[in-house]
Amino acid sequence: MQKDYYEILNVDRNASDEEIKKAYRRLALKYHPDRNPGDKEAEEKFKEINEAYEVLSDPEKRARYDRYGSVDGVGSVFDFGFRTKFDDLFDDLFSDFFGRTSRTKKGDDLRYNLEIEFEEAVFGTEKEIEVPKEEKCTRCGGTRIEPGFKPTFCPVCGGRGQIRYSHGFFTINKTCDSCYGEGHIINHPCKECKGRGYVKTKKKLNIRIPAGVDTGTRLRVRGEGAKSPSDTHPGDLYIVIHVRPHSIFEREGDNIVVHVDVDYPTLCLGGEIRVPTLNGDMKVEIPPGTQPGKVIRLSGMGVPKSRGYGRGDELVYINVSVPKSLTERQRKLLEELARELRSSK
Ligand SMILES: [Zn+2]
Ligand SMILES: [Zn+2]
Repeated sequence: MQKDYYEILNVDRNASDEEIKKAYRRLALKYHPDRNPGDKEAEEKFKEINEAYEVLSDPEKRARYDRYGSVDGVGSVFDFGFRTKFDDLFDDLFSDFFGRTSRTKKGDDLRYNLEIEFEEAVFGTEKEIEVPKEEKCTRCGGTRIEPGFKPTFCPVCGGRGQIRYSHGFFTINKTCDSCYGEGHIINHPCKECKGRGYVKTKKKLNIRIPAGVDTGTRLRVRGEGAKSPSDTHPGDLYIVIHVRPHSIFEREGDNIVVHVDVDYPTLCLGGEIRVPTLNGDMKVEIPPGTQPGKVIRLSGMGVPKSRGYGRGDELVYINVSVPKSLTERQRKLLEELARELRSSK
């Protein structure tokens, strides 16, 4: 008994291509295995819908079907060639619906460790990096066949990609071992890509590093990962930032920490000191009687905030500098000061 493909898709005999596509999308979504896990009936229905669509969406097959009421080799093609052939349609169909589904095999994500200078992390920069890339082989155009040759029909499965054999009461379909389900065999693989269809190359990328990144920050570059099996959903590239330590500054989130040595008289009397900042040296007022360990906050002199506006602060830690050797006069003055301080207690 022949199947009525029009009835399966619930469309008119003279339905337009667009109507057929619409009907197919609607039914495919309804009966898709992802939405009907474990439902055998839905699965059968889903196969039937796909079979019908395969024929009716192809003008040549549709004409043959209209004329003879059947098209050879359709059902068996579905399990292999069809699914990959229509992957693109499925992908946009189901990504709307389910987000990314397991059907869509995404390429692998790649990780790239990028070391940058402290100032580059603070203010942002642009870097050129080189990442591995698989590109369609130009010699064979991705067909994997040496130019001038043709693939031959797989003699084992007769081009169907699968082998059917009976086992007791059952008929079992098995992927053809000889052609791995492709239905054809390449006897003359492309010499350039050795029959892979793709060649490994390197690609230069300009990466904009935003201001405020820190060690461990991951930047995603969409679509620059490894290619996917269907070549439609490449993985992403993740740039992992490593910031080289600075000779003076340390980082605490959006704040910059710096330690400054100040001599004892200045701490006692107060005065002006020079403090290094990311924007060059800055004069900072020290109040009289400043204690060692005091932190002076230079607001807005830190790291630009990676999310939103503004900058962190610079935290200046005050140390006392103690001279390791003294001149004769310095010693005399200090001794005098020491006596003075002790007697006034
Ligand atoms: Zn090639
Ligand atoms: Zn085969």
